[in-house]
Amino acid sequence: MYRLYRQVPVAGRYLLLCLYLCLWVFALFNYSSRCRYSQPDVFIEDWPADDSRLKSGRCYLRRDSLQLQPIDMHNAPELHHLETALAGPEVPAQMRLRPGGSWAPSNCTPLQHVAVMVAFRNRDFHLRLLLNRLHRMLRRQLIKYTVFVVEQTGPEPFNRGMLMNVGVVEALKLASFDCFIFHDVDMIPEHDRNVYLCDENARHLASAIDEMRYHVMFYNYLGAVLVLSRQAMPLYTNISVRLSRQRHRITPEWLSNSDSVCFDSPVNATMSSKNFFRINGFSNVYWGWGNEDDDISARTMEAGMLVSRPPLTLGRYKMVRHPKAVRIEGGYTHFMAWRARHYEDGLNALRKESYTIVSRQAMPLYTNISVRLSLSRHQMKQEWLSKTAILLSVDVLELISRYFNRCSLFHYSLHAIF
Ligand code: UDP
Ligand code: MN
Repeated sequence: MYRLYRQVPVAGRYLLLCLYLCLWVFALFNYSSRCRYSQPDVFIEDWPADDSRLKSGRCYLRRDSLQLQPIDMHNAPELHHLETALAGPEVPAQMRLRPGGSWAPSNCTPLQHVAVMVAFRNRDFHLRLLLNRLHRMLRRQLIKYTVFVVEQTGPEPFNRGMLMNVGVVEALKLASFDCFIFHDVDMIPEHDRNVYLCDENARHLASAIDEMRYHVMFYNYLGAVLVLSRQAMPLYTNISVRLSRQRHRITPEWLSNSDSVCFDSPVNATMSSKNFFRINGFSNVYWGWGNEDDDISARTMEAGMLVSRPPLTLGRYKMVRHPKAVRIEGGYTHFMAWRARHYEDGLNALRKESYTIVSRQAMPLYTNISVRLSLSRHQMKQEWLSKTAILLSVDVLELISRYFNRCSLFHYSLHAIF
């Protein structure tokens, strides 16, 4: 290539350079971000002078009651201390957590019913830090919620995506949640005004992580803390989701009538999260660390959702330090072929043989779902599908464009300079 370039006359080289720079400028001016920063102000109102809002009975938040909180990342209270402080008999009844880690405001009607999903294995210290912070914050935000800790047992590699899918299926057996928060156990929110509710987008709450020097890692990043609701209006209509032997066609009417749709799925769950269903949940094939968040980002983009984030001043998180896991080998291969698997690999692929619930327990501070995951025959087919799609180069161009879209290097290097 370089030899070829050397053969071009000098004037031609300048021309090529100019063309290259023009392309860059063109790309920069035509870059349209699908990411929006939005204040959670819809839920936060200055206290109405005439009490009109109060009469409506809906929960509104007082701006001045929600502040940046100091976080002690080195000392996590013991579990029994936490249980006494948050759910013990001395706690006033209105503030006391119910078994299973649930709470709801008693003197106003909450806007949504929220499930916080934490995929978990062997991170007790992180969990205690998180619970200590999360419950206090969510109560201040007047949110009706339950915290689910979906714990993977057995020797298999950790599978965050599949745990989240299982969590949603199991949670919907308990109540018809409107809004799901997919939360890393090591992300401790700092600002009480980062409201844990859904909007019509894929809302990414972790805009600013201390580890990333309080900046977004890249525009399409949807890791750490992601919010997906059932509230959004469908933007595209032509998805078929196969559940057991039946094929359901998702149409706008279907979605608007499906506040509580009972699927005849192998897990026999009542499911109601429109957005999560629209994208078919997380992929199940990422065993180990890496790429499952890229996959869900691609799915939300495909479904026409924007990404909304709180401003950097509000979406602040401290990350608990831990040794970095090694990236799995097949991660990129699967990600490159995400489109080929999209409709087959996700919520609708949870089969009887792919997971076993070891126990469901209503602990004082959370609902624990212990689950053993296994590689099903269906998943092996997905692996095969990824490899074939790569061989046929179906998704290679897709991958290249997506990685450019990340703008990570460009964006991140700017922050490194300034
Ligand atoms: N996780 C866990 N135990 C593990 C690995 C992962 O509980 O052994 C969960 C935990 O919720 C964690 C998330 O998966 O926050 C993401 O994994 P990790 O923190 O290793 O990845 P990072 O995002 O920090 O690179
Ligand atoms: Mn982490």
